Amino acid sequence: MRVLIVEDDERIASFLTKGLKAEGYATLVARDGYEALAVSEAEGEALDLVLLDLGLPRIDGRVVLRSLRDRLPALPVIILTARDDVESKVQGLDSGAADYVTKPFHFEELLARIRASLRARDQTASSVLVVGDLQLDLVTKVAWRDGRRIDLAPREWALLELLMRHPHQVLSRAQILDRVWEYDFDPGSNIVDVYVGYLRRKLNAPGCAPLLQTVRGAGYRLLPPEGPGEG
Ligand code: CA
Repeated sequence: MRVLIVEDDERIASFLTKGLKAEGYATLVARDGYEALAVSEAEGEALDLVLLDLGLPRIDGRVVLRSLRDRLPALPVIILTARDDVESKVQGLDSGAADYVTKPFHFEELLARIRASLRARDQTASSVLVVGDLQLDLVTKVAWRDGRRIDLAPREWALLELLMRHPHQVLSRAQILDRVWEYDFDPGSNIVDVYVGYLRRKLNAPGCAPLLQTVRGAGYRLLPPEGPGEG
Protein backbone atom coordinates (compact mmCIF):
# COMPACT_ATOMS: atom_id res chain seq x y z
CA MET A 1 0.00 0.00 0.00
CA ARG A 2 1.39 3.34 -1.09
CA VAL A 3 0.35 6.42 0.87
CA LEU A 4 1.10 9.98 -0.21
CA ILE A 5 1.45 12.32 2.77
CA VAL A 6 0.84 15.94 1.79
CA GLU A 7 2.05 17.99 4.75
CA ASP A 8 4.16 21.12 5.11
CA ASP A 9 4.76 20.66 8.84
CA GLU A 10 8.07 18.81 9.04
CA ARG A 11 7.38 17.18 12.41
CA ILE A 12 3.94 15.89 11.48
CA ALA A 13 5.23 14.59 8.13
CA SER A 14 8.02 12.63 9.79
CA PHE A 15 5.72 11.37 12.57
CA LEU A 16 3.27 10.08 9.96
CA THR A 17 6.04 8.58 7.83
CA LYS A 18 7.51 6.66 10.77
CA GLY A 19 4.13 5.50 12.05
CA LEU A 20 2.86 4.34 8.67
CA LYS A 21 6.13 2.60 7.78
CA ALA A 22 5.93 0.69 11.07
CA GLU A 23 2.48 -0.50 9.94
CA GLY A 24 3.84 -1.73 6.63
CA TYR A 25 2.75 1.13 4.37
CA ALA A 26 5.08 2.62 1.79
CA THR A 27 5.07 6.40 2.07
CA LEU A 28 5.85 9.44 -0.04
CA VAL A 29 5.84 13.02 1.20
CA ALA A 30 4.89 16.20 -0.64
CA ARG A 31 5.63 19.46 1.20
CA ASP A 32 3.27 21.75 -0.65
CA GLY A 33 0.31 21.69 -3.01
CA TYR A 34 2.41 21.99 -6.11
CA GLU A 35 4.54 19.01 -5.15
CA ALA A 36 1.40 17.04 -4.28
CA LEU A 37 0.05 17.52 -7.79
CA ALA A 38 3.41 16.63 -9.38
CA VAL A 39 3.84 13.46 -7.29
CA SER A 40 0.26 12.32 -7.86
CA GLU A 41 0.69 12.90 -11.57
CA ALA A 42 3.88 10.84 -11.67
CA GLU A 43 2.53 8.06 -9.44
CA GLY A 44 -1.01 7.90 -10.81
CA GLU A 45 -2.76 4.65 -10.04
CA ALA A 46 0.26 3.36 -8.11
CA LEU A 47 -1.03 5.43 -5.18
CA ASP A 48 -3.47 3.78 -2.80
CA LEU A 49 -4.37 6.67 -0.52
CA VAL A 50 -3.59 10.34 0.15
CA LEU A 51 -3.40 12.10 3.52
CA LEU A 52 -4.02 15.74 2.68
CA ASP A 53 -3.37 18.81 4.79
CA LEU A 54 -5.50 21.79 3.72
CA GLY A 55 -3.29 24.70 4.74
CA LEU A 56 -0.46 24.25 2.24
CA PRO A 57 2.08 26.57 0.63
CA ARG A 58 1.79 27.39 -3.08
CA ILE A 59 -1.45 25.57 -3.85
CA ASP A 60 -4.21 25.19 -1.27
CA GLY A 61 -5.27 21.69 -0.22
CA ARG A 62 -8.81 22.21 -1.50
CA VAL A 63 -7.47 22.84 -4.99
CA VAL A 64 -5.30 19.74 -4.71
CA LEU A 65 -8.34 17.71 -3.68
CA ARG A 66 -10.36 18.90 -6.66
CA SER A 67 -7.56 18.01 -9.03
CA LEU A 68 -7.12 14.55 -7.48
CA ARG A 69 -10.87 13.84 -7.68
CA ASP A 70 -10.80 14.84 -11.29
CA ARG A 71 -7.79 12.80 -12.39
CA LEU A 72 -7.90 9.85 -9.99
CA PRO A 73 -11.52 9.46 -8.91
CA ALA A 74 -10.98 6.07 -7.25
CA LEU A 75 -8.10 7.28 -5.05
CA PRO A 76 -9.25 7.80 -1.44
CA VAL A 77 -8.19 11.12 0.07
CA ILE A 78 -8.32 11.67 3.83
CA ILE A 79 -8.13 15.30 4.82
CA LEU A 80 -5.90 15.80 7.84
CA THR A 81 -6.11 19.38 9.02
CA ALA A 82 -6.31 21.80 11.93
CA ARG A 83 -9.40 23.38 10.33
CA ASP A 84 -12.11 21.98 12.59
CA ASP A 85 -15.09 24.17 11.68
CA VAL A 86 -18.19 22.46 10.36
CA GLU A 87 -18.13 24.38 7.08
CA SER A 88 -14.65 23.12 6.18
CA LYS A 89 -15.63 19.56 7.06
CA VAL A 90 -18.81 19.67 4.99
CA GLN A 91 -17.01 21.27 2.08
CA GLY A 92 -14.17 18.73 2.24
CA LEU A 93 -16.49 15.73 2.30
CA ASP A 94 -18.75 17.19 -0.38
CA SER A 95 -15.70 17.73 -2.57
CA GLY A 96 -15.11 14.00 -2.51
CA ALA A 97 -12.78 13.40 0.43
CA ALA A 98 -13.17 9.87 1.79
CA ASP A 99 -12.81 11.13 5.35
CA TYR A 100 -11.92 14.19 7.41
CA VAL A 101 -9.63 14.03 10.46
CA THR A 102 -8.75 17.05 12.57
CA LYS A 103 -5.45 17.80 14.27
CA PRO A 104 -4.49 16.93 16.92
CA PHE A 105 -5.38 13.35 16.08
CA HIS A 106 -4.86 9.93 17.61
CA PHE A 107 -2.64 7.83 15.41
CA GLU A 108 -4.59 4.63 16.15
CA GLU A 109 -7.79 6.31 14.98
CA LEU A 110 -6.12 7.61 11.85
CA LEU A 111 -4.95 4.07 11.06
CA ALA A 112 -8.49 2.75 11.49
CA ARG A 113 -9.82 5.46 9.15
CA ILE A 114 -7.15 4.61 6.57
CA ARG A 115 -8.19 0.96 6.70
CA ALA A 116 -11.87 1.89 6.39
CA SER A 117 -11.21 4.12 3.37
CA LEU A 118 -9.20 1.39 1.66
CA ARG A 119 -11.97 -1.15 2.29
CA ALA A 120 -14.56 1.23 0.84
CA ARG A 121 -12.38 1.76 -2.21
CA ASP A 122 -11.97 -1.99 -2.77
CA GLN A 123 -15.71 -2.53 -2.56
CA THR A 124 -16.72 0.22 -4.94
CA ALA A 125 -13.85 -0.22 -7.35
CA SER A 126 -14.95 -3.72 -8.16
CA SER A 127 -18.68 -3.44 -8.38
CA VAL A 128 -21.35 -0.77 -8.30
CA LEU A 129 -21.50 3.02 -8.59
CA VAL A 130 -24.46 4.55 -6.78
CA VAL A 131 -25.81 8.10 -7.04
CA GLY A 132 -29.21 8.63 -5.46
CA ASP A 133 -31.58 5.99 -6.84
CA LEU A 134 -29.31 5.34 -9.81
CA GLN A 135 -26.98 2.33 -9.88
CA LEU A 136 -24.36 1.31 -12.37
CA ASP A 137 -22.98 -2.20 -12.13
CA LEU A 138 -19.50 -2.05 -13.58
CA VAL A 139 -19.15 -5.81 -13.79
CA THR A 140 -22.41 -6.78 -15.48
CA LYS A 141 -22.65 -3.42 -17.32
CA VAL A 142 -26.24 -2.89 -16.32
CA ALA A 143 -27.80 0.37 -15.11
CA TRP A 144 -30.79 0.58 -12.79
CA ARG A 145 -32.91 3.49 -11.69
CA ASP A 146 -35.34 3.02 -8.85
CA GLY A 147 -35.44 -0.70 -9.56
CA ARG A 148 -36.00 -0.24 -13.31
CA ARG A 149 -33.38 -1.59 -15.69
CA ILE A 150 -32.02 0.89 -18.23
CA ASP A 151 -30.41 -0.25 -21.46
CA LEU A 152 -27.57 1.94 -22.61
CA ALA A 153 -25.50 2.16 -25.78
CA PRO A 154 -21.72 2.09 -25.20
CA ARG A 155 -21.22 5.87 -25.43
CA GLU A 156 -24.21 6.50 -23.21
CA TRP A 157 -22.70 4.08 -20.75
CA ALA A 158 -19.32 5.81 -20.83
CA LEU A 159 -20.94 9.22 -20.39
CA LEU A 160 -23.06 8.06 -17.45
CA GLU A 161 -20.09 6.35 -15.80
CA LEU A 162 -18.04 9.55 -16.09
CA LEU A 163 -20.84 11.65 -14.58
CA MET A 164 -21.42 9.11 -11.79
CA ARG A 165 -17.75 9.09 -10.88
CA HIS A 166 -17.97 12.85 -10.38
CA PRO A 167 -21.34 13.48 -8.77
CA HIS A 168 -22.06 17.15 -7.91
CA GLN A 169 -19.19 18.23 -10.14
CA VAL A 170 -19.74 20.31 -13.25
CA LEU A 171 -18.04 18.71 -16.24
CA SER A 172 -17.45 20.89 -19.27
CA ARG A 173 -18.26 19.75 -22.79
CA ALA A 174 -14.52 19.68 -23.52
CA GLN A 175 -13.83 17.43 -20.52
CA ILE A 176 -16.64 15.08 -21.50
CA LEU A 177 -15.51 14.96 -25.14
CA ASP A 178 -11.98 14.20 -24.05
CA ARG A 179 -12.91 11.37 -21.67
CA VAL A 180 -15.82 9.73 -23.43
CA TRP A 181 -14.84 10.07 -27.06
CA GLU A 182 -11.11 9.92 -26.33
CA TYR A 183 -9.99 11.39 -29.59
CA ASP A 184 -9.88 14.81 -31.07
CA PHE A 185 -13.42 15.71 -31.83
CA ASP A 186 -14.42 19.03 -33.33
CA PRO A 187 -14.93 21.13 -30.18
CA GLY A 188 -17.75 22.90 -31.96
CA SER A 189 -19.61 19.62 -32.29
CA ASN A 190 -22.84 19.24 -30.35
CA ILE A 191 -22.37 15.49 -29.84
CA VAL A 192 -22.12 15.87 -26.05
CA ASP A 193 -25.44 17.72 -25.90
CA VAL A 194 -27.03 15.10 -28.13
CA TYR A 195 -25.88 12.25 -25.89
CA VAL A 196 -26.88 14.08 -22.73
CA GLY A 197 -30.33 14.34 -24.32
CA TYR A 198 -30.41 10.58 -24.99
CA LEU A 199 -29.34 9.83 -21.42
CA ARG A 200 -31.92 12.21 -19.95
CA ARG A 201 -34.72 10.49 -21.82
CA LYS A 202 -33.58 7.10 -20.59
CA LEU A 203 -32.98 8.14 -16.99
CA ASN A 204 -36.15 10.14 -16.53
CA ALA A 205 -39.23 8.32 -15.44
CA PRO A 206 -42.58 9.43 -14.11
CA GLY A 207 -42.28 10.21 -10.41
CA CYS A 208 -38.46 10.31 -10.50
CA ALA A 209 -36.58 13.58 -9.99
CA PRO A 210 -34.31 14.72 -12.86
CA LEU A 211 -30.67 13.84 -12.19
CA LEU A 212 -28.79 15.42 -15.02
CA GLN A 213 -28.47 19.17 -14.73
CA THR A 214 -27.36 21.67 -17.36
CA VAL A 215 -25.18 24.43 -15.91
CA ARG A 216 -25.43 27.29 -18.36
CA GLY A 217 -22.14 28.23 -19.96
CA ALA A 218 -20.27 25.59 -17.94
CA GLY A 219 -21.43 22.09 -18.76
CA TYR A 220 -23.33 19.29 -17.08
CA ARG A 221 -23.51 17.65 -13.71
CA LEU A 222 -25.21 14.75 -12.06
CA LEU A 223 -27.04 15.67 -8.88
CA PRO A 224 -28.66 13.05 -6.68
CA PRO A 225 -32.22 14.07 -5.82
CA GLU A 226 -32.78 15.19 -2.25
CA GLY A 227 -34.48 12.50 -0.24
CA PRO A 228 -37.61 13.21 1.74
CA GLY A 229 -36.86 15.42 4.73
CA GLU A 230 -33.40 16.40 3.51
CA GLY A 231 -34.48 19.50 1.63
CA1 CA B 1 -0.24 23.04 6.97
